[in-house]
Amino acid sequence: MNAPDPTNVYDVVGGMFEQLAAAAARHRTEKERIRKERRSTPEARRRRSDAAHQGWESRRAREKAERDADARKERHYPTGPTCDGMDTHPVAGEIFCALDPDHNGDCDDMNGLTWPAP
Ligand SMILES: [Zn+2]
Repeated sequence: MNAPDPTNVYDVVGGMFEQLAAAAARHRTEKERIRKERRSTPEARRRRSDAAHQGWESRRAREKAERDADARKERHYPTGPTCDGMDTHPVAGEIFCALDPDHNGDCDDMNGLTWPAP
């Protein structure tokens, strides 16, 4: 491009915009370089790796909790006839025994609560 004519306002303003665009491009390039540099330090790599491991651990823990909850739910609903034992629990309210009608020992709702058989 030709040198801007200082008497032509369009040249002057256009030149300023070109300088601004060049400065913005330099700024962007520099920011990207700094970002890459920062992300490639051993500490940053270790932090990312630790975060990924932690993420996988919490995912595995959540999936295990879901499997356990499913297993508990299946255990909670008996398929055959059950003991008629009932108890009241301060939190769970009325709870029913899920064991066989002729079971021995305490009643059990198969959800972690037990009480003496009637
Ligand atoms: Zn029972």
